[in-house]
Amino acid sequence: MDVRNVIIIGSGPAGYTSAVYSARADLKPLVFEGSVTAGGALMNTTEVENFPGFPDGIMGPDLMDGLRKQAERFGAELVADDVVEVDLAATPKVVKTATDTYYAKSIILATGSGYRELGVPNEKRLSGHGVSWCATCDGFFFRGQDIVVVGGGDTAMEEATFLTRFAASVTVVHRRDELRASKIMQDRAFANEKIRFLWDSEVVDVLGESKVSGVRVRNLKTGAESELAATGLFIAIGHDPRTELVKGQVELDDEGYIKVDAPSTRTNLDGVFAAGDVVDHTYRQAITAAGTGCAASLDSERWLADHE
Ligand code: FAD
Repeated sequence: MDVRNVIIIGSGPAGYTSAVYSARADLKPLVFEGSVTAGGALMNTTEVENFPGFPDGIMGPDLMDGLRKQAERFGAELVADDVVEVDLAATPKVVKTATDTYYAKSIILATGSGYRELGVPNEKRLSGHGVSWCATCDGFFFRGQDIVVVGGGDTAMEEATFLTRFAASVTVVHRRDELRASKIMQDRAFANEKIRFLWDSEVVDVLGESKVSGVRVRNLKTGAESELAATGLFIAIGHDPRTELVKGQVELDDEGYIKVDAPSTRTNLDGVFAAGDVVDHTYRQAITAAGTGCAASLDSERWLADHE
């Protein structure tokens, strides 16, 4: 039986950074990248201006291609396939794709999280061209512009408030006539002169050819539709950590994120580590994912040394 030192599941900044470190520690990591979305969330974006080391910014796919090549250069073995089943409590640990079974002493989980989409026409097409899921990432691009934010929770209020630093106006579109957000976040948003609210309403289409020019909105009480001019649409209706694969094995929190023994990346299972957005409620940035990816590799390296 061929037992690997470490298998890394996921190919975003967390997975590839783990791969760079594990490969440079001569652990010959095997990385499952996924069959469709190798490279992770940044493959769906255009300019990334906040990843350190790129003073002129870099396109998301170029950044991920660089990370991928860096991992390969040091001997990481990359497989463009999905892991469909794992046994993380077994010794050695078992990782299955649809066609093959692999074994490893340690595992790094870096499967990321998915931003919830509205599911309306043109949302995907205009992603990175005015449609965004991350104010921290993209707010800077919208200086002096009119922006729509969809959502009614804490994240939506935080994003709306943050965006007023740049935007001329921010319109929060919310399905109900009251917010889910905590009182303090609501108060902050209500007190902000740049923010207005469109209650009982949902976005039913995103308008624009090569970039966003507005949204079509339906009033849920009257059924009336109208167009709202805007050059940015920020969708803040939640995230889903990709933990289906490990549910019932590693401990998850109430929202389905993998629990780690912070500041380490150890999960509740011996030899199993987790990094990036699949763990992170708070920061969800490429650099923080890369940072915890590095930590997971170092944690697994030390664990392997202790278990030789
Ligand atoms: P991800 O990047 O989500 O990667 C996880 C990978 O694991 C995916 O490729 C997935 O296919 C793979 N995977 C999942 N399950 C399996 C499985 N069972 N088998 C095999 N593979 C699997 N952050 C910034 O810092 N700056 C920005 O400008 C910025 N812009 C963004 C723009 C957009 C449109 C989006 C969506 C996000 C943006 N972010 C940005 C956030 C950033 O992309 C994430 O924080 C980061 O990618 C998280 O990295 P990760 O490695 O944890 O997960």
